[in-house]
Amino acid sequence: MASENESSRGEAIPGRRIALITGITGQDGSYLTEFLLNNGYEVHGLIHRSSNFNTQRINHIYIDPHNAHKARMKLHYADLTDASSLRRWLDTIRPDEVYNLAAQSHVAVSFEIPDYTADVVATGALQMFGSTPPPQSEASPFHPRSPYAASKCAAHWYTVTYREAYRIFASNGILFNHESPRRGENFVTRKITRAVGRIKIGLQSKLFLGNLQASRDWGFVGDCVEAMWMMLQQEKPDDYVVATEESHTVEEFLEVAFSYVGLKWKDHAVIDKWYFRPAEGDNLKGDSSKAIF
Ligand code: NAP
Ligand code: GDP
Repeated sequence: MASENESSRGEAIPGRRIALITGITGQDGSYLTEFLLNNGYEVHGLIHRSSNFNTQRINHIYIDPHNAHKARMKLHYADLTDASSLRRWLDTIRPDEVYNLAAQSHVAVSFEIPDYTADVVATGALQMFGSTPPPQSEASPFHPRSPYAASKCAAHWYTVTYREAYRIFASNGILFNHESPRRGENFVTRKITRAVGRIKIGLQSKLFLGNLQASRDWGFVGDCVEAMWMMLQQEKPDDYVVATEESHTVEEFLEVAFSYVGLKWKDHAVIDKWYFRPAEGDNLKGDSSKAIF
């Protein structure tokens, strides 16, 4: 990003489709921004104030707003817990499409800050399946297993309620876990891959983990953001599961990651009860047949 983490002005460039993204600095926000810019969009992103720069994932696509003819991505300060800031930017930007990706998205952390998680996430809308037996589709009953997932359920139903009451074009993407090198470092895939690299070059010897038997339907975020966009290009709003329909345990992930560099995970991984959650969604495997457009 340029020298100052300033937010830019809100004026739109005439004739272009305009997208507004909450959570633009997150993993998904950064991939979605690249996708939309490549497809000719003007992208406005809402960032929340932090005492340090929090734009590392989008620095490579940021252009100083003083270079107005080139800058198709614009950043503005707002917060999901501050309705007036959201209203202000919606009214100023008047976007064609809104992608609500902002969240306190860490499940284990949501047990420690449940009120804040509900504040931020209940106004978002994505993952929410817990102990419902797999495969989980749009028709599966929700059984959330954390304050995060319960908040996502609320967000899901807010969206459905407003869609039915006011005919708003609003869709829920029910996305199963999706990963990339930009995944937050305290999520299990990035925690493991980062540790593998550090162990291989001698910077670390042990990796402390929790439940290795949990199973996840892990996909790639680049595919998921394309699915988000496709949902908004449909004739009617609807809700869609986005998943790979394949599920693997954390232990299997460990095996693949360590063997990739010729190491044995059992020599380095140590179970630490601290990383177990008070409740867990054990077995996640999506049924995304409805989303095969
Ligand atoms: P992420 O990397 O944690 O990004 C979350 C984004 O929300 C960040 O830009 C964060 O900003 C922003 N944010 C947090 N609190 C905010 C607040 N109070 N006001 C405004 N912005 C705030 O999450 P992600 O992996 O990109 O996921 C994107 C969305 O998909 C989230 O809603 C997540 O719950 C959902 N989801 C993700 C997955 C997955 O596997 N990745 C699966 C299902 C659903 P800072 O970084 O500056 O804090
Ligand atoms: P989540 O599915 O959104 O909670 O994504 P995470 O990447 O945080 O966790 C995926 C699975 O890995 C969950 O079942 C966790 O319980 C399990 N897991 C095992 N050890 C760890 C760990 O050390 N950190 C995290 N984040 N998850 C772990």
